[in-house]
Amino acid sequence: MNLDEILQHEETLDPQDWQAMRSLGHRMVDDMITYLQTLRERPAWQPIPQQVKERLHQPLPQQPEGAEVAYQDFLENVLPYPHGNIHPRYWGFVNGTGTVLGMFAEMLAAAMNPNVGGADHSAVYVERQVLDWCKEMLGYPPEASGILVSGGSMANLLGLAVARNTKTDFDIRTEGVRAAPGMMTVYCSSETHSSVQKAVELLGLGNKALRKVPMDREYRLDSAHLEKMIAEDRQAGYLPFCVVGTAGTVNTGAIDPLNRLADICRREGLWFHVDGAFGSLAALLPEMRDRLSGMARADSLAFDLHKWMYLPYEAGCVLVKSKAAHEKAFAVVPAYLAKHERGLMAGPEWFANYGIQLTRGFRALKAWLVLKEHGLDKFRRLIRQNIAQAQYLASLVEKSESLKLLAPVPLNVVCFRFTSARLDEKALNELNRELLMELHERGIAVPTSTVLQGKYALRVAITNHRSRKEDFETLVREAERLGKECLQ
Ligand SMILES: *Cc1c(COP(=O)(O)O)cnc(C)c1O
Repeated sequence: MNLDEILQHEETLDPQDWQAMRSLGHRMVDDMITYLQTLRERPAWQPIPQQVKERLHQPLPQQPEGAEVAYQDFLENVLPYPHGNIHPRYWGFVNGTGTVLGMFAEMLAAAMNPNVGGADHSAVYVERQVLDWCKEMLGYPPEASGILVSGGSMANLLGLAVARNTKTDFDIRTEGVRAAPGMMTVYCSSETHSSVQKAVELLGLGNKALRKVPMDREYRLDSAHLEKMIAEDRQAGYLPFCVVGTAGTVNTGAIDPLNRLADICRREGLWFHVDGAFGSLAALLPEMRDRLSGMARADSLAFDLHKWMYLPYEAGCVLVKSKAAHEKAFAVVPAYLAKHERGLMAGPEWFANYGIQLTRGFRALKAWLVLKEHGLDKFRRLIRQNIAQAQYLASLVEKSESLKLLAPVPLNVVCFRFTSARLDEKALNELNRELLMELHERGIAVPTSTVLQGKYALRVAITNHRSRKEDFETLVREAERLGKECLQ
């Protein structure tokens, strides 16, 4: 085809039949509302049949199937086999549930499809608004800096990148870490999330530089030990520059002694980063504020909106107290991104200068809409409800003859196992592993697992606004029943 022919047959991805697309869209809305309304009637999880896996392993479509057929394929082969985290009896890993308006927000954001790397358009101001709300929620000063990111892992990476760049007295962006006169070390507890290790590795520090401080009996970082390690490392010629405290560990929901850590950081001239992926949100509750008060003293604070704020994936956030330090760590302004005084290329600080991504989606919209929809008080009540449910589950486990708690329950995480005097530790671990897989395969409930001091634990992390009291009763009853079955 020559140019003229191509130009005479110009095409687009917009529908030819807008009316048909409109009705398909309406059907999708109806289907998804029904789907969410009837979640409780379906299994918490179900295995994907082999023929479905085959349907999801097809050649690249060269010719159009059309939206209707593609949607039908989705209804039959994708929708029925979800991860499970939207279900009322899902308490695996630390996963949020999402909300109905959050789902629509994703559609609205995709319809506008703005690039929120920067420039002067409404989405930038919505994100700034959401960041201001986040600062207020977590007791951070209004002049602090921040950016929405994919999740806690990315938020930890950005926070540690600012820490690394700020705490070196040479230009690390130019010279690289190799210019450091000694090993630059970061401190965190042995319970710290694996994303901190990935961040330290990506920042070129090497995971040898991540010094794991032992925990106390309640799974919190032992601050006396931390002080000793910092002193010894300085003796050895290392360059301590950062302490990571956790507000809500993934294993047990423990909260590190954040005020102590902030004191140590101030005295030692270290950057204080807090990973508050889910636990930081407990600061919304007046009754939790004391235990989390040190959090607001952090130089950088990472947390998720897709866990304990229940927003759909993906939505995380990092706040950095010094805006100058935050910008200095990332800003690069090539000619094609130069800010102008007026027009689209104007606008406030470009988010691209506060993180790694240039092109960025409109994550802020779901947070903005859902917060406006419910108001913060609703989230306070839901977080309080999840903590009460964790206490309730712990009390059921304590009353049970065959189940046993494996760790304290300071927040919303409950670790327990089935026990039997007839079995040794190894056999108990195997039995509980089997029990977990049975709970999943029978679609009863979805805890996941961890290992605490050598003991395999069924681990329930409650960041679910759909769970009810009776769901935990079901879990305990079924765990007792299946545990006994496994014994035979
Ligand atoms: C979930 C979690 C992370 C990682 O966050 P993502 O959103 O999964 O990237 C980091 N730290 C803690 C304590 C977490 O619970």
